[in-house]
Amino acid sequence: MIVKRRALSFWERLYVPALLGGIKVTLGHFFKKSVTMQYPEEKWTVPEGYRGAPYLVKDQEDRTKCVSCQLCEFVCPPRAITITPPGPTASAEAGNVEKMPKEFEINMLRCIFCGFCQEVCPEEAIFLMKDYSLTGTNREEMIYNKEKLLSLGGIHQDPIQKWKQKLREAREQGIGAEGHSDKVDP
Ligand code: SF4
Ligand code: SF4
Repeated sequence: MIVKRRALSFWERLYVPALLGGIKVTLGHFFKKSVTMQYPEEKWTVPEGYRGAPYLVKDQEDRTKCVSCQLCEFVCPPRAITITPPGPTASAEAGNVEKMPKEFEINMLRCIFCGFCQEVCPEEAIFLMKDYSLTGTNREEMIYNKEKLLSLGGIHQDPIQKWKQKLREAREQGIGAEGHSDKVDP
């Protein structure tokens, strides 16, 4: 089938009207407020409660808080966490941190940022940070090892009191807090 082309009008055959139309659109945007964000110099302010990438944290004395209980590994829906416990011959690192993991890996390509690992951790050792810009040039780079997770999570300068906070919330809601041994400051 032969498609017949419509003949251009006199004004359509002129170059200048189309050029002026383009300049008009450009000038219209030129004086408007810019909506382009200069990423990565500028970053989004994420809302309170935003769940980003999970990282390990150290306590105020620079000790790894994780004790290799593997609860987070067990609960992680996409199996993104792989923990290698220190084994029965490992010596105590310090204080209450007796079983610092030999290796702790999170595959960030699998992680769905659900926050289950943070929820179940009895040691408050893993937290979801407000980081949304995970990048890498290959798959191996996106598997974060223990050193990287600890360096990104850093040291929590303030005492972490997640469980006290949860107990307080439970008491406020009048559920499940009776008989709990933990004391909460008023
Ligand atoms: S945030 Fe969810 S998916 Fe990601 S490591 Fe934790 S439990 Fe697994
Ligand atoms: S991060 Fe928490 S839940 Fe996961 S192994 Fe360490 S102590 Fe257990």
